[in-house]
Amino acid sequence: MPEVLLAARGLTKRFGGLAAVNDVTLDLWRDRIHAVIGPNGAGKSTLTNLLSGDLPPTAGTVSLGGQDVTGWPPEKISRGGLGRSYQKTNIFLPFTVWENIRLAAQSRTPRAAHWLQLASKVSPANERAQRALELAGLQARRDFLASAISHGEQRQLEIAMTLATDPQVLLLDEPLAGMGTAEAERMVELLLRLKKDHAMMLVEHDMDAVFALADHLTVMVNGQVIASGTPAEVRADAGVQSAYLGEEAGHG
Ligand code: ADP
Ligand code: MG
Repeated sequence: MPEVLLAARGLTKRFGGLAAVNDVTLDLWRDRIHAVIGPNGAGKSTLTNLLSGDLPPTAGTVSLGGQDVTGWPPEKISRGGLGRSYQKTNIFLPFTVWENIRLAAQSRTPRAAHWLQLASKVSPANERAQRALELAGLQARRDFLASAISHGEQRQLEIAMTLATDPQVLLLDEPLAGMGTAEAERMVELLLRLKKDHAMMLVEHDMDAVFALADHLTVMVNGQVIASGTPAEVRADAGVQSAYLGEEAGHG
């Protein structure tokens, strides 16, 4: 049996009268990629924020590694082993690639405010940062300013910053956004490498990437899950065809 690292049950988030996420239940398994797709406004980013603790749910529960973490602040959930990237980039452009990763690694330790003083010493944070740099394939860009690398490399950097906290669960919100074909292929390869030892939730609009990567697929529309299953099962679902995939294919 695959190991469930994150379990959401009946997750709901209301903004006034709008149920942005409505009674969503899902599991994330180690060594598997769970893609979440749906049109703009479906609630995918809000769901990510509920799982990471960036937003408290109106109802429902989240457990991480078997522990109920509902209502925990994001820093505490991060220390519990969850790492996330943001749809909008979180990079400090005037810093180097290495400084960005090092800062993210240090944010995982309790004395985050002292990262500048500690930065010159070899520490577990340095080791985590080094591993993340290599795993993300950014060794050759280590000492470049973040502003001087390509858009695709900036997205790799963002993933490296997430990896620097040594997460077991990864939540990635549109990591391929705005990428050209070659950049997208590189990112798909990186995500496949990260599948090993991690449980991953991938929010993504690029259907080629989704079908290349996903072990499990959940489709959201208007805050609700309208289908969930293997990619083949979801592709064959008539409701999904009309609500989303057929419409997407029309643009492609
Ligand atoms: P997606 O990521 O699938 O495009 P979002 O989760 O960003 O969708 O948004 C889902 C719905 O919730 C949208 O109608 C959006 O306008 C609304 N929404 C998201 N965040 C907020 C917020 N902080 N306050 C009010 N409404 C929000
Ligand atoms: Mg979004």
